[in-house]
Amino acid sequence: MSKNNRDIQCSFCGINKNEAQMLIAGDGAHICDRCVTQANEILAEELNQRKNKSLQSTLKLIRPLEIKQHLDQYVIGQDDAKKVISVAVYNHYKRLNQKVTSDEIEIEKSNLIVVGETGTGKTLLAKTVAKILNVPFSIVDATVLTEAGYVGEDVESILTRLLQSADYDVTAAERGIIYIDEIDKIARKSDNPSITRDVSGEGVQQALLKILEGTNVNVPPQGGRKHPDQKMISVNTSNILFICGGAFDGIQKKISNRLRTQTVGYKMKEEDEIIDLNNLYKYITPQDLKSFGLIPELIGRLPVLTYLNPLDKETMLSILTQPKNALIKQYIKLFEYEDVELKFDNDVFEFIVDKAWEFKLGARGLRSICEAIMLDDMFEIPTSKDENEDRTLHITLDYAKQKFAKSDIKKLLVA
Ligand code: ADP
Repeated sequence: MSKNNRDIQCSFCGINKNEAQMLIAGDGAHICDRCVTQANEILAEELNQRKNKSLQSTLKLIRPLEIKQHLDQYVIGQDDAKKVISVAVYNHYKRLNQKVTSDEIEIEKSNLIVVGETGTGKTLLAKTVAKILNVPFSIVDATVLTEAGYVGEDVESILTRLLQSADYDVTAAERGIIYIDEIDKIARKSDNPSITRDVSGEGVQQALLKILEGTNVNVPPQGGRKHPDQKMISVNTSNILFICGGAFDGIQKKISNRLRTQTVGYKMKEEDEIIDLNNLYKYITPQDLKSFGLIPELIGRLPVLTYLNPLDKETMLSILTQPKNALIKQYIKLFEYEDVELKFDNDVFEFIVDKAWEFKLGARGLRSICEAIMLDDMFEIPTSKDENEDRTLHITLDYAKQKFAKSDIKKLLVA
């Protein structure tokens, strides 16, 4: 005998079919639309809590020493920066795990600013930290940002990239790391703050303040300009760690001026540190950033300041061969896929470093030079699979020089 509508009820809340908007039938049971909605909400909340718990437990495990040891596997040298970054990152995630109660001391955010010549590993450090912590990471270029209402990207767009790298998982993005490159390029052009509006400089710095400190931002999911019809995603930036980097070309002069005036009138004691004129970045202070053109409010929101050493040839040689995913190791792997054993004479590495040095390309140039040397082989080998052939490629200094001479050197200069 079939049941009539009044007999069919939601098995969860007991509502009759007549009163419910919809009743879904299962195997010997029914569920109404309201219970489905409620169950969905409970599920979302529970899953969110579980995710937060698991994020907290994984983040808690990584102590400064472990962070530094991980960094050592990928980044050569730069010990001071690694130490400072490891501690800042550890404190940042400790802060995230802090359960805030009214009487507790609130730990402030430890956003970082890293100063150093281009190609010395600023981006690599930030990227590696994110990898170690397994949090979403994105890189943005400060030069594309402009004040709202001007041509360029709104500062909110820096969060779009992070959301994208988190696959639009807002909870994950809210614990991510954003690396803002070329922060020096938005320095105030003049020491006089009242000079005509400085669209790409001070205005952007002002716009960044709130985001760096922590606020709810409506983010356009596809980036670009804010659009009245576009659906926004709300992202809270309080727990996002910002790492800013820049070369601050010319800041050395400001540092040396400061160091000189500081010592004028004081007899340098013998035990005073001898100033390393080749690496003035080492002595950088927030005051130097201010004289370079960063506004004090921005400097205040980037409380951890560290520097990277310029690379010498010896370091570049290590970069080429030592890190876990060193360039040479990557080429060996690539050739392994073709069943070819790739071998280098040691003087080839020195040649590559010398050329990168000569073209002032920093560590970034190492790759371009390797490509120039290896391009022909990478092009030909995949199509020349002869079973009986000797599957070894031995790169000698002469061979490297010959391939390099044949390559288009001009291209390297814009690499
Ligand atoms: P920056 O951000 O300072 O301009 P990057 O971090 O982008 O420089 O470095 C450019 C490339 O040079 C990286 O991909 C990396 O391969 C290499 N590199 C630079 N510095 C180091 C370093 N200290 N250790 C290992 N690799 C490095």
